Amino acid sequence: MTPLEYAQACLTTRLQDLSQRAASIERSRQHRQRPLSADSEDRATERENDEVLDRLAVTTQVEISQTRHALSRIQDGTYGLCESCGEPIKPSRLQAVPEATQCSGCAASAQRAA
Ligand SMILES: [Zn+2]
Repeated sequence: MTPLEYAQACLTTRLQDLSQRAASIERSRQHRQRPLSADSEDRATERENDEVLDRLAVTTQVEISQTRHALSRIQDGTYGLCESCGEPIKPSRLQAVPEATQCSGCAASAQRAA
């Protein structure tokens, strides 16, 4: 298995996991159509849970789009190249973060800018 095939296998598995996670989050979110509890303390807990679910839904969607993006880069042959400086991303970084689109240098400066 080439490193590229390995990355593709990782990303594909990850996309499946993420899709399943997104589906189960969606099921839990639909579940909340229930009337809120009459007890105000319960209500606060329910709202907190809803917020956690909302955040989880957002991060899952972001991860899904990052993973899809990385897979499309494998297809078009640009996988492993930094989107900012065009230099190859270190294989060790790609192994740890298969969906990375920036080399560690560019990722670090993007984080500093954010
Ligand atoms: Zn770079």
